[in-house]
Amino acid sequence: TCVRIMTGAPIPDDCDSVVMQEQTTRNGDTVTFNADVRTGQNIRRAGEDIRQNAIVLARGQRIRPAEMGLLASLGFSEIPVYRRLRVAVFSTGDELQQPGRPLAAGQIYDSNRYSLLGLLQNLGTEIMDSGSIPDHPDRLKAALLDAAAHADVIITSGGVSVGEADYIKQLLAEIGEVVFWKIAMKPGRPLAYGKIGACHFFGLPGNPVAVMVTFLQFVRDALLELQGQNISPTPVFQAICSSPLRKLPGRTEFQRGILSQDEHGKMTVRSTGEQGSGILSSMGKADCFIILPPEQGNVEAGTVVNIQLIHTP
Ligand code: AMP
Ligand code: MG
Repeated sequence: TCVRIMTGAPIPDDCDSVVMQEQTTRNGDTVTFNADVRTGQNIRRAGEDIRQNAIVLARGQRIRPAEMGLLASLGFSEIPVYRRLRVAVFSTGDELQQPGRPLAAGQIYDSNRYSLLGLLQNLGTEIMDSGSIPDHPDRLKAALLDAAAHADVIITSGGVSVGEADYIKQLLAEIGEVVFWKIAMKPGRPLAYGKIGACHFFGLPGNPVAVMVTFLQFVRDALLELQGQNISPTPVFQAICSSPLRKLPGRTEFQRGILSQDEHGKMTVRSTGEQGSGILSSMGKADCFIILPPEQGNVEAGTVVNIQLIHTP
């Protein structure tokens, strides 16, 4: 015996299988099945996805689209979450002009702050945009103290190298603590990290590519961790490099690459071209970093290299 139901209807008592109407022929009170019927077919069982008492989302799980749907599917209208991390951002440099205004001789537009604001938006942090501060120790100190009083994390760019106008590291030592400074990486060598009271401080280099590379390699995971999220290392894959790469031994390099597949379906990567740390367009073209270890010298075309996807939706 059978009874007609619509998709989504509960299974009537004493029924154990559902047959699609396209696989049936009806003749008065008689229905013929035109395909084999497997007992229990086409039924969504209560609890088939998640068993009673199972852990659906562990502490530290980011709520992405799938998790939002999952929570709704279980009837949750509210769940406890960590509060957003408050992140203060400012640029440093006498030469910086704000976009939208005319450039005077010797000025450049402050682009780092916009790259950083975009990167932070993707992480869902609360952003305190503190503009750009000239290379003046008192002004910089006031900006750092103000940010430290209001934010969980401070991110600056520029002024952290060894030039005459590079005050950031010495100010950090004066009002807080320098935990590390200078990393054997390219771009991004002058990266500084420290604390000002309870506030975490990241002094990123001034060069526009270095800002994005150090953020993606260091700051991103730190922020996720600080906002309570469980993190796992970003996977590294191998690809055949189709362009020759210039590299001096000494530092880990994060060159910018574009992925594709060769005619055999193998993953290949080519350079975005010019790799200077001011060539910000390379970050726009790239979909991956080609990571070259410190001891590595020049790379010939056809060599297998390590790559890491750049994920900045
Ligand atoms: P610095 O470490 O401050 O000497 O900066 C290194 C280079 O990055 C210099 O050429 C700066 O002009 C440039 N730079 C610094 N800050 C910014 C910024 N906010 N936007 C674009 N370029 C910058
Ligand atoms: Mg500077």
